[in-house]
Amino acid sequence: MTVYNFSAGPAILPKPVLEQAQNELLNYRGSEMSVMELSHRSSLYDNIIKEAEALLREVMEIPDNYHVLFLQGGASLQFSMVPLNLAVGKKVLFVNTGAWAKKAIAAAKNVAGVEVEVIASSEDKNFSYIPEINPEMIDQDAAYLHITTNETIGGIAFKELPTTGKVPIVADMSSNILSNDYKVEDFGVIYAGAQKNIGPAGLTIVIIRDDLLNAEPVFAPMLDYRVQVENESMYNTPATYSIYIAKLVFEWLKNLGGQAEMYRLNQLKAKILYDKIEASPLFKSPVSKENRSITNIPFITGDSDLDKLFCIQAEAAGFKNIKGHRSVGGMRASIYNAFPIEGVEALVDFMTQFELENG
Ligand code: PMP
Repeated sequence: MTVYNFSAGPAILPKPVLEQAQNELLNYRGSEMSVMELSHRSSLYDNIIKEAEALLREVMEIPDNYHVLFLQGGASLQFSMVPLNLAVGKKVLFVNTGAWAKKAIAAAKNVAGVEVEVIASSEDKNFSYIPEINPEMIDQDAAYLHITTNETIGGIAFKELPTTGKVPIVADMSSNILSNDYKVEDFGVIYAGAQKNIGPAGLTIVIIRDDLLNAEPVFAPMLDYRVQVENESMYNTPATYSIYIAKLVFEWLKNLGGQAEMYRLNQLKAKILYDKIEASPLFKSPVSKENRSITNIPFITGDSDLDKLFCIQAEAAGFKNIKGHRSVGGMRASIYNAFPIEGVEALVDFMTQFELENG
């Protein structure tokens, strides 16, 4: 049976990447050691992390005045680290678009000396859309405006970025980094857990504009961007194997045509599924058409028992992890960069079959 993994993260990785990792597992480039066994201070490993950064800079077209960090603690640690470094004694603005924005807001509120203002929210309609943000809503004295470019659970995404004047945008890009057409120069800080579009869990990517680095030291060196930049992500032992896999993923992505090609393919994959949902007498999308995500696609029948039946049958037929997040129910297809178009087509066929049997 062909298995398609629709997991929201940790998620599917490109097969060629896993095969290369397998080939190199016991003997990395003649060293008779696994990458897992290399000292992070060795020249062999130094090449890996440097190449990973160079490749990410290339595929994301990261300007020279941005630093790239390979950290740990997940996107969740960035919820606290960003305000701690950028906003003590200042005000920060948030757009509340769903479960992940809410967590970022809660974490920022817990950082002493940070004033949090939620300038727009879509909670009134169960986070089914991205609220409009006008330039007048942006206090020009704020340290930054935080957005979640893609809500992994809700399935909504920013297509266009708010106009913020001189206030930098900080983005949690965990679930659509490298799969959209965002430009790094439109952001002050981008952060993302790796386990969706980049590599294994345990690695967090942070991209930060040089002028936003904290002037004052943060009480804990591990939480201090400046310390991490000065130590080239090696203040302590980094997530060496996850960074190695990320490097292979960046190589794979570059060879396929880079981020622009990923965006084209992701739009194509998403369209196949949305076209099916729109034409379906049974399945519905719970989110507004203008803001729907191309990486996480929730759908429902409107009958929770039928949703449950669909999930059970889909799982048995090889469509793994298609169940919606436990907080919202229904179904969710996470179709990140590595997810093959054939898997989306197969899911659509399966949905048609299910309609015939249960419509
Ligand atoms: N932000 C978003 C948008 C996410 O999807 C997730 C994870 N699902 C997180 C933050 C939390 O990431 P982590 O588990 O890496 O802390």
